[in-house]
Amino acid sequence: MEAALKLDPAVQDFVRAPFRKMLIDGKWVAAASGKTFDTVNPATGEVLARVAEGDAEDVERAVRAARRAFDEDGWASSKPAERTRILLRVADLIEKNAAELAQLETLDNGKSINESLNVDVPAAAGTFRYYAGWVDKVYGQTIPSDPAFFNFTLREPVGVAGQIIPWNFPLLMAAWKLGPALACGNTVVLKPAEQTPLTALRLGELLQEAGMPDGVVNIVPGFGPTAGGALVKHPQVDKIAFTGSTDVGKEIHRETSGTLKRVSLELGGKSPNIVFADADVEAAVQGALMGVFFNQGQVCCAGTRLFVEQKMHDEFADVLAKHAGGMQQGPGLDPSTQVGPLVSQEQLERVTGYLDIGKKEGAKALIGGERNTGKGFEKGYFVKPTVFTGVKNDMRIAQEEIFGPVVSVIPFKDESDAVLQGNNTFYGLAAGVWTRDVSKAHRVARAIRAGTVWVNCYNVFEAAAPFGGYKQSGYGRELGSYSIDLYTQVKTVWMRI
Ligand code: NDP
Repeated sequence: MEAALKLDPAVQDFVRAPFRKMLIDGKWVAAASGKTFDTVNPATGEVLARVAEGDAEDVERAVRAARRAFDEDGWASSKPAERTRILLRVADLIEKNAAELAQLETLDNGKSINESLNVDVPAAAGTFRYYAGWVDKVYGQTIPSDPAFFNFTLREPVGVAGQIIPWNFPLLMAAWKLGPALACGNTVVLKPAEQTPLTALRLGELLQEAGMPDGVVNIVPGFGPTAGGALVKHPQVDKIAFTGSTDVGKEIHRETSGTLKRVSLELGGKSPNIVFADADVEAAVQGALMGVFFNQGQVCCAGTRLFVEQKMHDEFADVLAKHAGGMQQGPGLDPSTQVGPLVSQEQLERVTGYLDIGKKEGAKALIGGERNTGKGFEKGYFVKPTVFTGVKNDMRIAQEEIFGPVVSVIPFKDESDAVLQGNNTFYGLAAGVWTRDVSKAHRVARAIRAGTVWVNCYNVFEAAAPFGGYKQSGYGRELGSYSIDLYTQVKTVWMRI
């Protein structure tokens, strides 16, 4: 099966290059080792493009460039209007090249072209535009003090930021990280995920076209333990911003204790999506579907534990399974596709492994429950949308992040039981609540221990609204004014009058 969509010639050129180079100090260069790695089209299992494989030596070059751009070249002290102009231009260029970026993202990640084109790419542009607006609004304070002194604070950039991003929203995560860092005057070394380096590299070209000075943004594709690890350990990197698994987040937390660099971690989740019997059921079904099957379930805040009030549990699960079974699965480039392939062979094995675990634990797959190897799907990494019932909240499939199109429907007795079970996880990234009772919605939103709670909606994001985790879902908040806190530090100045 191949997609109906015609590939943009620019996309064809981009993937056909002998290999894509990395961006260091304004130049596109090969890895110092000369090594490359393959990135694969998850819909076909075929090699899509070859990419320079950065490691410690390349990270060293990139950090040196970022350091110089920060310490000597004056990005941090450039006129705010100039930084705003460049960031706005980046947003415009993302929009101008939206079709190309969306196709690249879909080819590399597998997600549906509708998601790439209508969600990821516009949100990436919107993030740069939002932070362009922040550049000249990062204020210090004038502090009332002993009249013998003038006391004020300056908000200064942190310095060189190492940013490590995952494969589930490659372009958007790059925007979430770069937008605020650059607005505040930091310089950056960005490491995209090995599975999906292409849109970050294309974004690097757009940053240059927008007039970003050399060395301000360096992009080093490569593997986690090598390129990522070198960035985490580097003494000249002032801050690490990481999105990915909780295990790697903990490793970064440990590694950075040696240099005490600042760290923000956006990690995994096992989010409760709670449906009360008084909810608008049709809206809740749609919200539950979108909450778990969007991006094939490869979403840190996916509503994978779907708690449904006992008296309507069976009926709700049946309707959900019927809808899930009707979702169109196919290659992301096919505009009719709703559920594409998983990102990689590794992720396919992880998710199908959990399907087996779930069945062994006694869960029942009302729909799906297996890999899709139908005609045209044989070589891709497709897993059928899966609805499990008979799940108890202490089973592994209800406690561990699966990161695939798999939802566990779990009954609850009443409000306090919903909150108790909902909070019974070491994660705390997000939650959903579906009810027509406003007071109940407020009570549950307060009682749930998670960084985001959606009431009668799910997966709503704005660049202005903070996002991040409670408990082992990480620390630090991205987006909104909170990212400005992540990328600035406060200096107190005392002047004798
Ligand atoms: P990882 O946490 O391994 O990858 C995320 C990023 O971290 C990638 O850029 C990766 O590089 C990099 N990385 C990996 N190891 C290190 C390290 N030791 N030091 C520095 N950087 C490192 O996630 P996986 O891709 O392995 O996915 C595994 C699971 O993680 C998923 O099934 C899901 O449960 C969770 N996950 C959560 C995400 C979220 O949004 N919170 C996003 C992605 C995954 P590289 O890929 O090049 O090796």
